[in-house]
Amino acid sequence: MADAPKNQVLDVLIIGAGLAGLRALHTFRGAGLNCQILEKSDEVGGVWNYNRYPGARCDVESYDYSYSFSAELEQEWRWTERYAQQPEILSYIRFVAEKFDLRKHIKFDHALAEARYDEARCHWELRSTRGETWVAKTVVMATGQLSKPKKPDLTGESDFTGEIYHSALWPREQVNFKDKRVGIIGTGSSGVQMTPVIAEQARHLYVFQRTANYSIPACHADISDQEDADIKARYRERREQAKNSPSGLGFVPSGKSALDDTPEEREKIFEAAWRRLGYGFALAYKDILLNREANDLAKAFVHRKIAEKVNDPEIAKKLTPKGFPFGAMRPAVDHLYYESFNRDNVELVDIKADPIEELVATGVKTSRNEYPVDILIYATGFDAFTGSLFTPDIRGRNGISLQEKWCDGPVNYLGLSTSEFPNFFIIAGPGSPSLLSNVLLSSEEHVDFICELLVSMKGRQMKEIEALPQFEKDWVAHVNERSKETLYPLASSYYVGAEVAGKPRVFMPYSGGVRGYRRILERVKANDWEGFRFG
Ligand code: NAP
Repeated sequence: MADAPKNQVLDVLIIGAGLAGLRALHTFRGAGLNCQILEKSDEVGGVWNYNRYPGARCDVESYDYSYSFSAELEQEWRWTERYAQQPEILSYIRFVAEKFDLRKHIKFDHALAEARYDEARCHWELRSTRGETWVAKTVVMATGQLSKPKKPDLTGESDFTGEIYHSALWPREQVNFKDKRVGIIGTGSSGVQMTPVIAEQARHLYVFQRTANYSIPACHADISDQEDADIKARYRERREQAKNSPSGLGFVPSGKSALDDTPEEREKIFEAAWRRLGYGFALAYKDILLNREANDLAKAFVHRKIAEKVNDPEIAKKLTPKGFPFGAMRPAVDHLYYESFNRDNVELVDIKADPIEELVATGVKTSRNEYPVDILIYATGFDAFTGSLFTPDIRGRNGISLQEKWCDGPVNYLGLSTSEFPNFFIIAGPGSPSLLSNVLLSSEEHVDFICELLVSMKGRQMKEIEALPQFEKDWVAHVNERSKETLYPLASSYYVGAEVAGKPRVFMPYSGGVRGYRRILERVKANDWEGFRFG
């Protein structure tokens, strides 16, 4: 990249202006680093800018899925709902960008195409898809874990005469479902969230389900002024509780095993968790995600709930997940999902039993039937964890690409740094708690850690920082060991790379919890950045 403006060397180039990238810009800038963000869209927000589908909302409570770095921001922003909807989250992110004057350091409409490490100069040369170039001492990937949408590979797509949308590439203009026959392919969190909303608007809705997943009622509620005042008065305490909970969500698992309670007591605990905890239902007992027998008890409870909600026993049976433990695949958190199947205009199509063969001009053709649709929605998820990291061509020492280095799965230290790629960091990358945690909390912790590391490098007048190969090898082994203590590996999910054919089957996130993970980061720091080499 000979045309790189070598006289303007940034301290840090951050990729992505989502929640993680904006936090990184604010924090690094505050530490005196000269930095900029490259953002592929024309707007801030990352996934919250793209996932505008009807019913999109966060399944972490608003007061926890928000930045913790500014007490003033915490007090100033007023959340209206317990689980914020996408427009409210995007407004919050825009508000943060204005309040902290972040936009002036964001280059919009530029996706990273290529990054090469220049070993002689100890810096990165980067080019965007629009051909502009940058030079930066350090690159920080804030590209998210679920940001590369995955489409089903259906023949006949070009013959289909209706409209097609992907949940994660939703248009800014409103999609009109009135009097339309709509098909949704996919029943993960996105499909589950949009189903009840579209069901109310469309003439007819077909939900094409390949794998039934679990869903827990969200128990949405508006936030009253009193509740807002109470939470804000004790915000620090709430943050501490979240930081010290296993998931960063603030739910502390009961100290009990599900096997220790009598059936009557257990029923009471499950019922209370079902009515109040949303995603935290999985933590109603300490061993639901760890012990098969305990999990079976939670499963039986949820299966009964599904049967109670769905009028037709045959449909209830199809909606009941089979073959994997409860919570091993990330459960959805819903608002009236199962109840939608009691409506006359909603039809569940089991595409495991009757697979989609192709799209035809008028709709979806399965092996046994044809379903006429005017609007087809792909709620088919993402190439998770590594999809966004492999989209640009990133090359470290000796021209090795990240994709080559990680051909058998991510190899990194602490989920944020990989050897042969000096001065290169990933926020909430594979091998860190990321998607097994409140990812915003985990991202903020990574930003602070990376910032201290960069400031330390600068203070030592060093030019390079790089993970040591032995430490990353040990870290990958540790991530694997911890996963074996859990039931997560027992489902074919994106946690194990099962969402994309041919992807290496390795356990991606760190399952040791955010508190345990933070202790490791603190130890690394206390031991003078153990596992990293300054050069
Ligand atoms: P997902 O959980 O990966 O679900 C994708 C769905 O599409 C699955 O049901 C999958 O079935 C199906 N599918 C994929 N390819 C298909 C194909 N070729 N033919 C038929 N079906 C296909 O994706 P998602 O729902 O977008 O959610 C992803 C993650 O994003 C969530 O787990 C969550 O972490 C996050 N998210 C969060 C929220 C929130 O905060 N509330 C909302 C939305 C998403 P198989 O299982 O059979 O592959």
